Amino acid sequence: MGLTLGRLLRARGLEPVIIERMPEGAYIPRGYMLGFQGYEPLKEIGVLDEVWPEGREIAPQGGSAVAVCVEVGKVIHSIAQDLPVMYEHSVTELIIDPSGRVTGVVAEGPDGEVTIPSDLVIACDGKNSRVREMAGMEAVFDKLPEAELSWMSSTPSETSFSMAYMADGGHIGHLSWPQGSGGWRSCKAVGAEEALAPGLDAIKEMWARLLPESRLGVEGVESIEQVRYSEPELLTTPEWWRPGIVLIGDSAHFFGPETGISSGIGLGDAHALAEAIAQNKDSADRACESYVTWRAPVVRPYEAMDPGRQRILVAGQQQPGPGEAWPPAD
Ligand SMILES: Cc1cc2nc3c(=O)[nH]c(=O)nc-3n(C[C@H](O)[C@H](O)[C@H](O)COP(=O)(O)OP(=O)(O)OC[C@H]3O[C@@H](n4cnc5c(N)ncnc54)[C@H](O)[C@@H]3O)c2cc1C
Repeated sequence: MGLTLGRLLRARGLEPVIIERMPEGAYIPRGYMLGFQGYEPLKEIGVLDEVWPEGREIAPQGGSAVAVCVEVGKVIHSIAQDLPVMYEHSVTELIIDPSGRVTGVVAEGPDGEVTIPSDLVIACDGKNSRVREMAGMEAVFDKLPEAELSWMSSTPSETSFSMAYMADGGHIGHLSWPQGSGGWRSCKAVGAEEALAPGLDAIKEMWARLLPESRLGVEGVESIEQVRYSEPELLTTPEWWRPGIVLIGDSAHFFGPETGISSGIGLGDAHALAEAIAQNKDSADRACESYVTWRAPVVRPYEAMDPGRQRILVAGQQQPGPGEAWPPAD
């Protein structure tokens, strides 16, 4: 989000300081489903047209598609090219004036500490945002009652996407991009050891049976190391800004695994905030107020209706269908 926001602000005549703790070009390779919610900001900075041919369309319709699935490095590279970024610098402190207003950050880099004054600090530092924490802004994490089992392989599947619901309301899905595939399903929150205990062959058999469209991709999984167990959490933050600081992207919200919208919504945040800042160049507070006015009606309903959140109400009330439970019953 930070890089995209940087490009959007520069397109509006501003010169933001972008701070990234990772080295330039570093990322964890994986497929990435770019949902339609993220098209406009990427179109504006010329990235959408560049990455579209590198991906596989999901639910194509009349020259566009509901989403495109692409190797994430291609998107990051395209957004980052020619963008000035302070790589290998970590924000370690916020500068806060006596009135409580955030007026800058301290970042630590290879040459030591640097203090950067700022009209507005924009936290785009992910779900476990240190910047949000340092500002004392509330984050509400909701643990899902179910866990997630996922895999990644370097074999593309038959189709770019498929998803199915199971009898107990759980789900199973897969994504495929030109260089590989990934799958995920909800499962009992039993811990990694128990979830992976049935072994790779059993996991592959179950996946191909419940979601035949993912067969080629899951067959390409070579080791149990490519299968991961996690216990996802949803995140919502009641307030998005305080004087001198605003949260966007995953630092502000995180959605459940079956929505596939987290980054599309974050890209939309970046677009809306860039426009709010451009329209209120002389007042960061007015920019933030304007941002929230326009953005809350878009984002809050997605948060409220997250299917993971809805399932918090029904977990355990339904049983899985035959062969659907994971780990399987003895
Ligand atoms: C396995 C996985 C698969 C996903 N697949 C999809 C998908 O298919 N489609 C989708 O829409 N979403 C997907 N998501 C969610 C999506 O990746 C996030 O919504 C998106 O990356 C959020 O972007 P962000 O910039 O807000 O946060 P992040 O991507 O977390 O980026 C935060 C950045 O801040 C940097 N940073 C953190 N702390 C500091 C600090 N103190 N100082 C300086 N820099 C710092 C980090 O290095 C990082 O580069 C997936 C997430 C995961 C984990």
